[in-house]
Amino acid sequence: MADKRDYYEVLGISKGASEDEIKKAYRSLAKKYHPDVNKDPGAEDKFKEINEAYEVLSDPQKRQTYDQFGFAGMDGAGGFGNGFGGFQSGSFDDLNDIFSSFFGGGMGGMGGFGGSARRNTGPQRGNDRFMRMNVDFMDACFGKTETIDIDVDEKCTRCGGSGAENSSDIETCSTCRGSGSVTREQRMGFTVYRTQSVCPDCGGTGKKIRRPCPDCQGRGYIRKHTKVDVKIPAGINDGQQLRIAGKGERGVNGGDNGDLFIEIHIREHSQFVREGKNIFLDIPVTAVDATIGTTLDVPTIRGEVTMKIPAGTQEGTQLRLRGEGVPDVRGGKPGDQICTVRIQVDKKLTSKEKELYRQLQDIQNGSKKKPWDQFKKMFS
Ligand SMILES: [Zn+2]
Ligand SMILES: [Zn+2]
Repeated sequence: MADKRDYYEVLGISKGASEDEIKKAYRSLAKKYHPDVNKDPGAEDKFKEINEAYEVLSDPQKRQTYDQFGFAGMDGAGGFGNGFGGFQSGSFDDLNDIFSSFFGGGMGGMGGFGGSARRNTGPQRGNDRFMRMNVDFMDACFGKTETIDIDVDEKCTRCGGSGAENSSDIETCSTCRGSGSVTREQRMGFTVYRTQSVCPDCGGTGKKIRRPCPDCQGRGYIRKHTKVDVKIPAGINDGQQLRIAGKGERGVNGGDNGDLFIEIHIREHSQFVREGKNIFLDIPVTAVDATIGTTLDVPTIRGEVTMKIPAGTQEGTQLRLRGEGVPDVRGGKPGDQICTVRIQVDKKLTSKEKELYRQLQDIQNGSKKKPWDQFKKMFS
């Protein structure tokens, strides 16, 4: 705070200045040092200083505190010492009046007002682009390279994206004074609404080109129909996104393109059900095989694998084939295949089979360990 100038000194007025005198002094100084008008180094700081002084001296209460206690009173009184804070709120309407008259036009003519409304008009990276790709079940398991056709706006190599024949052909847009956007202000009662839109003259670049680049006709980019190889890694998951660098939307003012993101949608398989790295498969097993056990050649995503069905296997039992699931997309251990046993009871029997089942039934009827008998005991 040591090198702060006295507010009256800043506005060039006496301690006893009237409200009108303060306003008048402020208006003429603000016009002179507004950063959109005055490009001198230091003009912006001066402009802030003027605004800060006006913010205090135009408010009778703050002025009284200042007169009594100086800057110490100001800092203690609630931190309006940061200049631009007041500029945005309290004295805003005054500035509004000043600049709408100064810049000749109505509200719409006053682009580039204040720091927050300014767009960055340097090189800007383009937006990312999103696509969806359907991938077959097996291709997602084992990977594949798919080639897609897309239109990409590539930066013009001749002008480097500037769109101009020479760098000297680039001028600052006069409509938005290089900001790339115009701000419209509308007052409704006590509230001022600001809406910001892209400058209609330069399309947001903040620049005008005198002689355009002959290769791209001033656009700075060339639309190309290209084939892009999309490498789908083995084990990719449903909903996972693949990033293709530089194939997104074009950048602005020579900025790089955004990226292309491809969201993978895996088609379902008629039999295999995938959950993460694991594969689930229902396998039909006859009652006889489940009872006395057998070995079966079970289909997996890699082909058939011999699997033991132990004697006494129950309906719904899950048998695991380790490592027979989907490869790990990050190169880790592959998943398993989990086979769920579905017991199939014969509906049609040959006379020979019927005969054997009857014999089996007779044997079991003579046994006391029948599950039916144990079940009945629970009700007695
Ligand atoms: Zn060009
Ligand atoms: Zn413009």
